[in-house]
Amino acid sequence: MISGATRVAAVIGSPVHHSLSPALHNAAFAQLGVDWVYVALHVAPGDGQRAVDAMRTLQISGLSVTMPHKEAVAASVDELDPAAAALRSVNTVVPQGDGSLKGYSTDGAGFVASLAAAGHEVHGRSVCLLGAGGAARAIADALARSGAARVAVLNRTLATAQDAVQLAGSVGVLGVPSDLRDSDIVVNATSIGMGSDDLPCDPSALRAGQVVADIVYHPRHTAFLRAAHAAGATPVDGLGMLVHQAALQQQLWHGHLPDVQVMAVAAERELAARHQ
Ligand code: NAP
Repeated sequence: MISGATRVAAVIGSPVHHSLSPALHNAAFAQLGVDWVYVALHVAPGDGQRAVDAMRTLQISGLSVTMPHKEAVAASVDELDPAAAALRSVNTVVPQGDGSLKGYSTDGAGFVASLAAAGHEVHGRSVCLLGAGGAARAIADALARSGAARVAVLNRTLATAQDAVQLAGSVGVLGVPSDLRDSDIVVNATSIGMGSDDLPCDPSALRAGQVVADIVYHPRHTAFLRAAHAAGATPVDGLGMLVHQAALQQQLWHGHLPDVQVMAVAAERELAARHQ
């Protein structure tokens, strides 16, 4: 039941009608039994700062931020956590006790948490990271913060690859093709494979003993993960990152970590309904 006491959280983006976040977050609120509701709000490109101002006025209790507003929101909040400051990008806004707003980036930590939940620690491991877009940058930063021994970035565009390498600090290097075979963990953080069977690299380089993660989550078992499985590697799908980054948002908003399984079921149900 929605009442006058119900707290409101929202995602802002453009486009935003396709967002899985309302399904994920409302399932988590129900599982936790908290009096919150989550909606999707279309905010036109260029209006990110005005949306942050509106959050203050309307006293929205939690905000998720998606394309194209992550940078504008990072510049509009009062304080940034270290990952958001390094990335100059915010996917989560949290009202503080004094009324100020603090921005976070939970994508990278969500990815690392999804690997840990699947039984794979990154501390001391070498990682080959495919891609250098927004998600890959967040992952590069989080891998370094989590103690990865080496983060080799391979990307079509050299300039953005160099930026992601810098985010990984002293463990970041520009990747070479042999990193695909030599790394303990290989991550597809490009958009290749979303809704298609396209591959982000030559899968013949993958081998047994590796963990191969794909952050693309539709289809859940991407062609890249199927090739990894065929090569004897251990596949980790992108739904884990999706639900873990959202679970971390909930923890920041109200202090409780929801059951990620409940969120995964909600996401899968929503995806299945859209693609039947
Ligand atoms: P983005 O900023 O647009 O970056 C896209 C990346 O893919 C870039 O590195 C780009 O290379 C590369 N790329 C795209 N098309 C390519 C092609 N044909 N050949 C070679 N490289 C190509 O996107 P993003 O926000 O990082 O998201 C990437 C993917 O991750 C999307 O599919 C998104 O839905 C998914 N995602 C999943 C989660 C999750 O929770 N599981 C979270 C965030 C994003 P260039 O730099 O050369 O353009």
